Amino acid sequence: MLARVLERPTLVLNRNWQPVGVATVARSLVMLWNESARVVDPADYRLYSWSDWSRLVPRDDEPFIRAVRSRLRVPEVVVLVRYDRLPTSAVTFSRRNVYKRDHYTCQYCGAQPGSEELTIDHVLPRAQSGISSWDNCVLACIACNKRKADRTPHQAGMRLRSTPVRPAWRPMYAAANVRIESWSKFISEAYWNVKLKE
Ligand SMILES: [Zn+2]
Repeated sequence: MLARVLERPTLVLNRNWQPVGVATVARSLVMLWNESARVVDPADYRLYSWSDWSRLVPRDDEPFIRAVRSRLRVPEVVVLVRYDRLPTSAVTFSRRNVYKRDHYTCQYCGAQPGSEELTIDHVLPRAQSGISSWDNCVLACIACNKRKADRTPHQAGMRLRSTPVRPAWRPMYAAANVRIESWSKFISEAYWNVKLKE
């Protein structure tokens, strides 16, 4: 089904081949067509412009896009020609991503008791009109959460280990269900485990 193929994810690399985001196949093809990106073949790291790519014939066992006169291969990785960042790849504010940003670590005492023993704490408590956002939510262990209760860190005499902010996109924020086998070649372990500085 064409729509489904066009919605598939493509890993986007910047000019230094560092992963900076995930785009749909549809968007990647537009970037390819307007020459702001090239397709990377994960098998041999060859780069393809639109005219090269559109001449390739998909193998029988791979997904393809049926164009007007031909069939197109589906890109899995593209590299940006000009830009270092993809401005639209904001990290979704979700429970899962807060855990990742905070490295499964209580932001008050530094404990790493495992995800079931961690809760999401509103720095400015909801009882004091605190909202759920990247800069007002941190991970807290159950003990710290209990101790802080409906107070600000200042009121509770507790200190945050770092100021919570919206993280920059990194491969670890790509949803598990949008990861593609070939991406692992471009995403090093160090990259997945990198300690966030924000
Ligand atoms: Zn704690």
